[in-house]
Amino acid sequence: MTDTTTPGMVIVGAGHCGGRAAQALREAGWTGTIHLIGMERHLPYERPPLSKELLTGEKTAGACQLRSAQALIDDGVRLHTQRVSALDTARRCITLANGQVLPYHRLLLATGGSARCLDIPGADLPEVLTLRTVDDALLLSQRLGAGRHLLVVGGGFIGLEVAASARRAGMAVTLVEGAPRLLGRAVPADIAARAQALHQAHGVDLRLGVLPTAIVPRQPGGVRVQLNDGSHVDADTVLVGIGMKPATALAHAAGLTVAQGIVVDAGLRTSAPEVFAAGDVAEFPGPLSGLPIRQETWFNAETQARVAAHNMVGGHEVVHQPPWFWSDQYDHQLQVCGEPAMGTHTVVRELGDGDRIAFHLDAQERLVGMSAWGLAPRCLKEVKLARLLVERRINARPADLHDPAVKLKALAASTAVLT
Ligand SMILES: Cc1cc2nc3c(=O)[nH]c(=O)nc-3n(C[C@H](O)[C@H](O)[C@H](O)COP(=O)(O)OP(=O)(O)OC[C@H]3O[C@@H](n4cnc5c(N)ncnc54)[C@H](O)[C@@H]3O)c2cc1C
Repeated sequence: MTDTTTPGMVIVGAGHCGGRAAQALREAGWTGTIHLIGMERHLPYERPPLSKELLTGEKTAGACQLRSAQALIDDGVRLHTQRVSALDTARRCITLANGQVLPYHRLLLATGGSARCLDIPGADLPEVLTLRTVDDALLLSQRLGAGRHLLVVGGGFIGLEVAASARRAGMAVTLVEGAPRLLGRAVPADIAARAQALHQAHGVDLRLGVLPTAIVPRQPGGVRVQLNDGSHVDADTVLVGIGMKPATALAHAAGLTVAQGIVVDAGLRTSAPEVFAAGDVAEFPGPLSGLPIRQETWFNAETQARVAAHNMVGGHEVVHQPPWFWSDQYDHQLQVCGEPAMGTHTVVRELGDGDRIAFHLDAQERLVGMSAWGLAPRCLKEVKLARLLVERRINARPADLHDPAVKLKALAASTAVLT
């Protein structure tokens, strides 16, 4: 079956970035056809609530939708619930799993990724879940509840957010993490230590430096998870939160340059003409460092959708906003902005009552990132100002960044911007 209509804008991946890009194409003035193709049975939606409000019952799946069905209709977006099985960059067309061929004028790959699974015996048992989609979250939410036991594998953002949601649901929670600390290298050790203390204060049984080796069913239900220190944990449900794999297979098979993600320039152009990539799947030059980075964040999906759409209609925008993300755990929030990996040292500003901001500076004392931890909403105003400093590339003195008597608002208004 071949669609011989005039090539339009084609977006592969009807997730957050793809859904937002369809909207942004219209805002950028595109009046032709827009095909939005995704393999989930839902309208494009935002994923942050999946580990938080959707699990605690504060939000429904419908409330996570990016836009209403009517808004898509009004914008004339043709939504296909299909998997895209092939990309032919020479003929400038894609093939859907049902055989339909769609030619493109410009193509956006916004395929996100899938949750990584454990590679140990028993990892395929029905009690062992991952969390990436709204369907995953609905399944997990059915298994949360007082009197039950959840084992979380992975002390990254998703694992910790799920642990917090499960504790709020009255569940016993054990969390195992292979590294000696939580939150990997994305977050400074002292903030990771505060997150650890908070989870322990909320009754999470944290086991650091241990890995699961096998999972076996138990009678009359649940599983026993063997750990590499010789101990075991009996649980009703296991949630594996060990990261995601970017969905690069389509791009790879089509001969596009792929590294940690689909490689794009600052304007989100891939190595193939008229093909763009954005969101979790795209590896792009870091706005501060110029080094290749990939971001798995809400903000990145939002901003890259708009940059890609703008350039698909002939614009010349680049991704210039420093990366930013947040994570909500209990009544606390963690935020990271910029490229902390560029930093050689940190300057800490204590906000009082345990809230703090770590400013990341490079060897030339330039501000390249900030990480913050505190009670929300108490700390959010100050953290927003700290983010502004990074965004505006303000060249503040380390002593001023450290000293709570020096107002961040005054520093943010400074004109000493780095070039
Ligand atoms: C549980 C969870 C909690 C999160 N919480 C936060 C948070 O608190 N703060 C934050 O900043 N970020 C958070 N994020 C990250 C943020 O949600 C993601 O970065 C964002 O969803 C990425 O959008 P995307 O469109 O690039 O990818 P996705 O949203 O994953 O969308 C990609 C879509 O493409 C589809 N697709 C893939 N291949 C094909 C194909 N061949 N054919 C058709 N369709 C295809 C997929 O099915 C998927 O629907 C969270 C993510 C998760 C999973």
